[in-house]
Amino acid sequence: MQDQYERKIEYVRISLTDRCNLRCRYCMPEAGVAKMRHEDILTFAEILRIVQTLAALGVKKVRLTGGEPLVRRNIVELIHAIRQIPGIEQVVLTTNGVLLSAMGADLVRAGLTGLNISLDTLQPETFAEITRRPLFAQVQAGVEKMLSSGLRNIKFNCVPIYEVNDGEIPALAELAKDYPVKVRYIELMPIGCAYEVGYRGVPMAEVQARLEKTYGRLRPVGKKADPLQGPAEYYRLAGFAGQVGFIDAMEHKFCATCNRVRLTAEGFLKLCLNQKNGLNLRELLRNGISDDNLKLALRQAIYRKPAEHLFTDSENTARDSRAMYQVGG
Ligand code: SAM
Ligand code: SF4
Repeated sequence: MQDQYERKIEYVRISLTDRCNLRCRYCMPEAGVAKMRHEDILTFAEILRIVQTLAALGVKKVRLTGGEPLVRRNIVELIHAIRQIPGIEQVVLTTNGVLLSAMGADLVRAGLTGLNISLDTLQPETFAEITRRPLFAQVQAGVEKMLSSGLRNIKFNCVPIYEVNDGEIPALAELAKDYPVKVRYIELMPIGCAYEVGYRGVPMAEVQARLEKTYGRLRPVGKKADPLQGPAEYYRLAGFAGQVGFIDAMEHKFCATCNRVRLTAEGFLKLCLNQKNGLNLRELLRNGISDDNLKLALRQAIYRKPAEHLFTDSENTARDSRAMYQVGG
């Protein structure tokens, strides 16, 4: 399925919940977070119907995210069911890792094809400072478990922030030294409370320069082997089993090749990370829309996907007010 700019849309990111067991300062306020009502959240049957219809339109990859997706009950069964949908080739998950040591093996058995673990620091104190929860040891145990699980396609996501974790930029890359994983650096985006808390993200050019200073020249990996891959640019470092990657969010370099749409936990199809236009799928489903009309509505909505995210445009009137924990990254 193509949008009006002839981009092929093959990837849906689904936020399963707005709840989370951490409170990362750049993502979610400590208190005063209005929770979605249980009945407002899509049921698994509704999610599966949407994925089936998207798959019929050419979507091949599903990412489950949140909030924290592992706090949603029965996620293992959901992964298994999504894997059975004809046309879906990849089912992947983005998690903060807190529940991985308990659930990782079941996720792999259910058919998960890839895992992104958010990890901004390797220091317990910094972890507690960023996430407001003293749970680093739990995450570390989960990371170790997944590295030895045999699951291929493991990525780590790190948001470098000045005077918080920027001193760890080279240390985080070390995760890719012995394991064939990808360590990705993501530029802090002006969504939700990210800038209000006084955080300043380190630009990707500086992250690259700091890595080169420590490890020598970064060698570009070149053309993407996986057509469903996201916006990161990957590089090799001498002596490393894995790779490092960079997501240069602010410069909207990746909008021209954007291949994704997003579904919020309450069933809103978001066409662009930073824009509010989209489609209320929950309303359509609960009003009894037919399969054919659902397909048509999805096709028409996706066709209207905006050209770019306009992060740097202060006059962007289409800007979405949803925070990252409501969208899923
Ligand atoms: N709870 C899961 C996790 O942390 O991996 C999934 C949802 S979380 C919103 C997804 C990703 O968004 C995380 O890697 C997090 O670091 C990132 N994120 C949250 N707020 C961000 C911001 N303002 N700028 C850049 N990345 C952000
Ligand atoms: Fe929770 Fe993920 Fe947001 Fe952190 S980044 S508060 S783990 S949703």
